Amino acid sequence: MTLRRKCNSLNEQEQPCGNWPITDETVCFWHSPNHQEAARQARVLGGRRRRTEQVTQVVFDLNDLTSIEMLDRVFAIATLDTLQLENSPARSRALIALMKTKMDINKHTDLDQRIAELQEVTGEDNDIKL
Ligand SMILES: [Zn+2]
Repeated sequence: MTLRRKCNSLNEQEQPCGNWPITDETVCFWHSPNHQEAARQARVLGGRRRRTEQVTQVVFDLNDLTSIEMLDRVFAIATLDTLQLENSPARSRALIALMKTKMDINKHTDLDQRIAELQEVTGEDNDIKL
């Protein structure tokens, strides 16, 4: 049995950090005095990334990233963007792939609906996720 080493530092909530320590150190990347500047830059980049994700989510009207409606919205965006490209064999292949994907989404949605209807009739309550 191998015991997993953990960072010796505490997090902002004064709880044990729990991250993997850097090789030959007792603390993780985030708590290492030898990596303070790199950790600061990583935090800045992470913040920018999260802000960019939020802006992208608003711009593309993607409210619930886990819903079927979101899949439909992403499919519509991808299809419209692809249609705006110059006509080429690559664009045709991309459109065919998009259509196949949409057909798969529709098939799964239809099956989920049918299963839900059957469960309603039989009284079963098994939750099936995609
Ligand atoms: Zn740590």
